[in-house]
Amino acid sequence: DARREDLPDLRGDEPDPASHHREGDVRALSLLERIGSHPERTAVVDARGRTTYGGLLASAEAIATALLAGRASLDGQRVAILAAPGAPFVAALLGAWRAGGVAVPLALPHPPAEHAHVLDDAGVTLALADAENAGRLAPVAAEREVRLLPLEAEGRPAATRRTGDLPRAGEAALILYTSGTTGKPKGAVHAHGSLTAQVDSLSAAWEWSADDALPNVLPLHHTHGLVNVTLCALANDARVEMLSGFDAEGCWRRLEEGGLSLFMAVPTVYAKLAAAWEAADAAERARRSDACRRLRLMVSGSAALPAPLFGRWEELSGHRLLERYGMTEIGMALGNPLRGERVPGTVGAPMPSVEVALVDESGGACPDGAPGELRVKGPTLFREYHGRPEETAKAFADGWFLTGDVAAREEGRFRILGRASSDILKTGGYKVSALEIEDVLRLHPAVTDAAVVGLPDEEWGERVAAAVVTGGASLSLDSLRTFARERLAPYKLPTRLLVLEDLPRNAMGKVTKAAVRTLFGAPSAGR
Ligand code: AMP
Repeated sequence: DARREDLPDLRGDEPDPASHHREGDVRALSLLERIGSHPERTAVVDARGRTTYGGLLASAEAIATALLAGRASLDGQRVAILAAPGAPFVAALLGAWRAGGVAVPLALPHPPAEHAHVLDDAGVTLALADAENAGRLAPVAAEREVRLLPLEAEGRPAATRRTGDLPRAGEAALILYTSGTTGKPKGAVHAHGSLTAQVDSLSAAWEWSADDALPNVLPLHHTHGLVNVTLCALANDARVEMLSGFDAEGCWRRLEEGGLSLFMAVPTVYAKLAAAWEAADAAERARRSDACRRLRLMVSGSAALPAPLFGRWEELSGHRLLERYGMTEIGMALGNPLRGERVPGTVGAPMPSVEVALVDESGGACPDGAPGELRVKGPTLFREYHGRPEETAKAFADGWFLTGDVAAREEGRFRILGRASSDILKTGGYKVSALEIEDVLRLHPAVTDAAVVGLPDEEWGERVAAAVVTGGASLSLDSLRTFARERLAPYKLPTRLLVLEDLPRNAMGKVTKAAVRTLFGAPSAGR
């Protein structure tokens, strides 16, 4: 396989002084044009070895040729990608773009029913899968007449000619599926331009350079792992090392080997790393702490970072975690400073190119300290929810995106107070719709009604808890999980169950989620 070289040392890259910060006219280039100006540098390291930028682009070109099958452009056709984090995934993404397609990354742990929803909702016509996952996708693809192509080099035509024009900034590039209050996940469409704007904003804020290298422990169907980690690394000629999934011991081992500069993760990952640090002996602890001290920056986001974890992490690593706030639809909107004080419990100030506003219930601007809805504007915003004009329209007011998050500003710093709707929870950094889970639970033959809530949890942020009505039948958590596993991703499965005679409701007959939480013993305060 010519794309991979056999280099024993994972950390041999020499810093390249010519490929530092890009400015001025270069900013107008699309992300695709920026990637690979130094073909010999290592782009991606994964379980199979390392892949250079040159190798990555050659693979992308070959994938584009295969996708095009003689046509000049895919003209925005949707290309689903199901592959483990690694060079083939990245080549698939770039290949889809190179062919004029819109990439739709599928979530690895999802069951076929969730993949089917995404293929249908996005109107996918082409799919790319690695050898490990192609078998799972094949029946779902075949039912929909989606053409499924293998990602591995075998069976793929060599790129014999240059593919067509590069996509322009305004063209759609990526659809990421994200949960909302309306049930099934919806697809947030980003154009090449908004992805470039996100990468520019993060590169400037966190001073990315070609000397950076970071491990990726996050899934690639979510904005955190895909944009903040992978695309930022590629756009900066830096190196991303895909660890297969997250495992605290494996992650500590890789950190200890050194040669890395950045680390980005969700709070749950930091909680697990902290627990593994605490379980280690004194010598091992010291090595782990040293490993962290050699990094220049550690970032947390995608869910609230509890202040005790911030403190614990500072003690064990010497790093005051840089907490930032963002969303699939808008990229990163707020962040603590790279240089300057990082205050636990706050998410700092607007990121470069991002405008934010806090609006009270009557639509007026909130004074300092007063909670209001966070609204965001700027070039990093998504274009629309795919095929859902009404939901797109409802998500904006006067060009501002309505985040649905409640926040307050204190001395120029923002504090996130929670979601305005109790029907969206965050577990392990994943956004989950309570309504979607309830719909599935109600399909169980013993369940007549269901209410799903998030319970505060130190490790997971929130835990998925289900209260169900069965009309007297007994039901165990295990059997409910087994039933739901066929239809829902593993992180959406309830981990607590209450069987009730009826759900608590208000005078209008609407289920009161706060009362459900109280039944689980959770504090009634909060949302
Ligand atoms: P997602 O689109 O999956 O990234 O989820 C975005 C949501 O995650 C936001 O609307 C917030 O509710 C939540 N979120 C992201 N970052 C933070 C943070 N630093 N603190 C609290 N909540 C956050």
